[in-house]
Amino acid sequence: MGKPSSNEGVTSTLPGVDGVEVRRSRRRTRTVSAYRDGERTVVLIPALFTPAEERDWVERMVARLEAADRRRNPDEDVLLQRAQELSRRYLADLAQPSSVVWVENQLNRWGSCTPADASIRLSTRLQGMPGWVLDYVLVHELAHLLVPTHSRHFWALLEAYPRTERARGFLAGMDFAAGRPDSGEGLDDLLEEDDPPVAALARHDATAETVVVGRRGRATG
Ligand SMILES: [Zn+2]
Repeated sequence: MGKPSSNEGVTSTLPGVDGVEVRRSRRRTRTVSAYRDGERTVVLIPALFTPAEERDWVERMVARLEAADRRRNPDEDVLLQRAQELSRRYLADLAQPSSVVWVENQLNRWGSCTPADASIRLSTRLQGMPGWVLDYVLVHELAHLLVPTHSRHFWALLEAYPRTERARGFLAGMDFAAGRPDSGEGLDDLLEEDDPPVAALARHDATAETVVVGRRGRATG
């Protein structure tokens, strides 16, 4: 803690809220902005804010971002619950997904996951396909949380899901029709290290919020 500084880019005067970085800006006088940056939430406030105003606005902006997330992805909570249910039913509840989100930038894969944080991403191209196909992709990614490679052990896990072969055929057919007949085993996913940043970037733009501050620190917009 210390006096609010008038320098650009000085961080919070308050004890940190977990995962939130507050940046004071001298140029900023009438707006507060917030956005996601990977795991962090960055809140940009006017340099002249008092600690009380800072505390108030950080709370408010974090709530706004969370509300915006829920509006944008009303069905992602349902997807996560579905994944948890599939893990219980077919994988002895061993896979514990942390999130399931739709992504639009995944043209060559139906799904991907990051075992380190147990996050799963599904291509929006799956939207509108039969539920048992979506379930297959979820079970596939859940199994990758346990076994990252397409090993024999991996496919043995997938045998628990009764429509694995049928769903793989369905997706291979979709690939064939779309002119990707050679995708073969890669009809599902290849885990790539650069996936999470790309997804995070897409979410970054989508989750920025800016509010105009009135004279008494009230939102006017
Ligand atoms: Zn796979």
